[in-house]
Amino acid sequence: MIAVEDLRKEYGGFVAVEGSSFEVGDGEIFGVVGPNGAGKTTTLKMLAGLIEPTGGTATVAGYDADDPAMRSSLGFLPEESPLYEDMTPRSYLRFFADLYDVPREEATRRSEETLDRLELDHRERRLGDMSKGMKRKVAIARSLVNDPDVLIYDEPASGLDPLTTNYVLEFTRELAAAGKTVLFSAHNLYHVESVCDRVIIMNRGEIVARGTVPEIRERHGETTYHVFTT
Ligand code: ATP
Repeated sequence: MIAVEDLRKEYGGFVAVEGSSFEVGDGEIFGVVGPNGAGKTTTLKMLAGLIEPTGGTATVAGYDADDPAMRSSLGFLPEESPLYEDMTPRSYLRFFADLYDVPREEATRRSEETLDRLELDHRERRLGDMSKGMKRKVAIARSLVNDPDVLIYDEPASGLDPLTTNYVLEFTRELAAAGKTVLFSAHNLYHVESVCDRVIIMNRGEIVARGTVPEIRERHGETTYHVFTT
């Protein structure tokens, strides 16, 4: 569902992502883990077609990542979702449904189901008056408005309290169980180990470890595990 081959991004002379290659299968939950500046966001944005790679290729749901047609199959959740503060969750989700040409009734049903599942109340409250956790739930509902096959979530659990983090991770599991492919980034391997089928660990633009979490622990030992993930 996602295939990345020798993907590279340079800013001036600075290499932010250095020849990344990996594949993500249908219905898999795949983690991109690493410390600040590792190149996680840059990788995810290249996959979402938001920034142009300096080299290499990325395909998502059978489309080249820079093909605008890919967007209908993708739900992208940026690290900081720009929510329109004066809108309400419902008006915000309707706005995005219209952008994606999703019929109103279908969009409303899907959004209400997601908000029910995430237990988001106050659906007519101003977004500007909502907590970070509530806003993240709305942003997740927004990423699903077009019923995409692939979800790319940039640090969906960062800055959330443990209860909301659990909601988000548990919901991610349900999305994969429903057949969606999920790729998400995280600082910390502890966050993703219960959720991800496989992970890559990035550091300074390079993939330094890959596999299931138990494989990485065994192959690289607790030292790598701690150095790159805490
Ligand atoms: P974080 O966990 O802090 O979000 P990250 O792993 O997502 O980190 P990136 O945001 O991908 O890391 O950044 C990787 C490197 O590329 C960093 O050193 C960053 O400063 C650099 N970088 C990112 N965007 C740009 C840009 N537009 N211009 C120059 N350098 C950039």
